Amino acid sequence: MADPHTDTRQAPQRNVDLHEIAKFEQLADRWWDPSSEFRPLHDINPLRLNYIDERAGLPGKRVIDIGCGGGLLSEGMARRSANVTGIDLGEAPLAVARLHAAKDNIEVEYLNIAAEEIAAERAGQYDVVTCLEMLEHVPDPAAVVRACAELARPGGQLFFSTINRNPKAFLFAIVGAEYVLRLLPRGTHEYAKLIRPSELAQWCRDAGLEVRDTCGLTYNPLTQVYRLNRDVSVNYMMHAVKVS
Ligand code: SAH
Repeated sequence: MADPHTDTRQAPQRNVDLHEIAKFEQLADRWWDPSSEFRPLHDINPLRLNYIDERAGLPGKRVIDIGCGGGLLSEGMARRSANVTGIDLGEAPLAVARLHAAKDNIEVEYLNIAAEEIAAERAGQYDVVTCLEMLEHVPDPAAVVRACAELARPGGQLFFSTINRNPKAFLFAIVGAEYVLRLLPRGTHEYAKLIRPSELAQWCRDAGLEVRDTCGLTYNPLTQVYRLNRDVSVNYMMHAVKVS
């Protein structure tokens, strides 16, 4: 049988930037260290878990987490009694996620597969689809939103999060976070790939989703506290529903 990794005769064009995957592969062993490059994800995790749980009711739900990385959100949702599948195209983050879940006896299905590929296999099978801090790393984010919509059952709940694109977001999310406060490695985010809430909302509507809420996630560098609020100028989350 042809090796899928070396056989390029019919390799489908995947919606992935391998340089982006490599960035996360390199850092993967520190994913669960709350004082590492992943500290911002650790800090926001309870806030976003509460937001998703309050809006979708996680216990007993079938959930798929797109771009799950080392599993902070996937495992958090499984700990709240959801039945979780996490997918990513980085093998090292997935290995870390599997080990971490196994260590604590938490059941999560982690798969190395693209969103579009699993959408073709499992269309309409999920009550909840999450895709957080991932869209800004992908060549065609609208296609990922479409795949997420396909994965949801009618009435299913979808959650996206990313970073806005405007001068303030450039100053806070790139200059501030990567160069001044050094919360994230330089080059983590690229300005041109950031996404305005209006663009994400349009992709949602194009995919047959209805946007129910958009909320901001702000960081106060003095108190080092993150909060969910109405200020979507830098980091934000969007909740949408698959209407039919
Ligand atoms: N969603 C997680 C991780 C965010 S980091 C969280 O919020 O905690 C971004 C993740 O997206 C990385 O794990 C990276 O490997 C993954 N990623 C980037 N491009 C991807 C793609 N095209 N398909 C699947 N995962 C991708």
